[in-house]
Amino acid sequence: MTTNEPLWHGQAHMPTVARSRRVIARGDGVHVWDEDGHRVLDLPASLWYCAVGHGRGEIADAASAQLRTLAAYSNFQSYATRPALELAGVLADAAPMEQAKVFLTSGGSDAVDLSVKLARRYWSAVERPRKRTIVTRERSYHGLHGFGTSISGLDVYREGIDRLLPDAVRVPYDDWRAFERLLADGGSEHVAAFVCEPVIGSGGVLHAPDDYFANVRRLCDEHDVLFVADEVIAGFGRLGTLFASERFGLRPDILLFAKGVSSGYLPLGGVLVAGRVAAPFWDEDSTLVLRHGLTYQAHATACAAGLANLAIIEREGLVARARELETTLASVLRPLERHPLVEQVRVGEGLLAGVVVRDAATAGRVSDDAWERGLLARQIGDGDVLQVSPPLTISPEQLAEAAELLAASLDDVL
Ligand code: PLP
Repeated sequence: MTTNEPLWHGQAHMPTVARSRRVIARGDGVHVWDEDGHRVLDLPASLWYCAVGHGRGEIADAASAQLRTLAAYSNFQSYATRPALELAGVLADAAPMEQAKVFLTSGGSDAVDLSVKLARRYWSAVERPRKRTIVTRERSYHGLHGFGTSISGLDVYREGIDRLLPDAVRVPYDDWRAFERLLADGGSEHVAAFVCEPVIGSGGVLHAPDDYFANVRRLCDEHDVLFVADEVIAGFGRLGTLFASERFGLRPDILLFAKGVSSGYLPLGGVLVAGRVAAPFWDEDSTLVLRHGLTYQAHATACAAGLANLAIIEREGLVARARELETTLASVLRPLERHPLVEQVRVGEGLLAGVVVRDAATAGRVSDDAWERGLLARQIGDGDVLQVSPPLTISPEQLAEAAELLAASLDDVL
């Protein structure tokens, strides 16, 4: 193992990485292999994204064909490519909103920052320029560009940086009445948008109470606040519906996505905007231009990969599969709650769960042990939660195997 590699890893203590780097070399289905040929079951589907599993030749073929025809072309001003138009059409048709428009980005953080800018820009466009405040939830994660860093409900991301967007306000993730009070105390005048993850992911897999989102959506309607769903983790089948908002009967004004849209085969994300919110910029007599653009937005090859990925999700019925497997997932993970090192098992909709271990150091030891046994188990939350978000292609037997390996590692560490 070389210790002097210059590659700076994400979210990593680099002196530790230099001693413990794992180089992932190959993937097939729910498994990946390191450079020494050690095989592990990919329990987090990399960073939550590999919905269709690894090694899909048909996505590689679609990307390769597009690369040979036209790798990319600008999507500024009047220019577009056919894969971008096609993908936008597929997404807008499926979106849980009327007359959706789509802005395609290179990933989730791009989409978060655009959503926040768009929320503010929309209220200026309709002559409510005092609406500027963004409300987010404690423990939420919204990527790490400027606005995302600022609105995150996790303070650690602002360490040494401070708040970038001064008027972001946080409310508890499980109490809609705090949002109600904020609006009643004059917030109505100032709040532009409520930004939320349908299920908090990186913050530790946290579910809101049953009545939470219906009440938040109602309050948004009553107080002219845009409801922004960050579906970067939860979208594209993860919760057992194509869009996570559908699982909660929600119709967001803005919905942002990434990860599962391409299963990570190429970087891709985007923002779906309800027709009503897009109207000031799209109406025939509009004079407004949204002054936003990214060089690689609507990248043709990424879009081709996205289309191939969505075709697999549809053909293999992976959304329904995630829903069917949620009971299996719960039944194999729940028994871990009896283990002395496990505080809680967080399960809910679809193939998304978290196993809360006594503390971060213990979770780290469990994760290291699991790796040796053939299971890749990543730490999230405050380091104390093991992430469970496998490819949607995982079999019930593989889910059971993953739980057995986790149980064995917990025993090893005890
Ligand atoms: N929003 C949520 C809910 C996420 O989980 C993430 C990434 O994990 C992002 C936004 C940022 O996406 P990206 O890392 O692709 O920029």
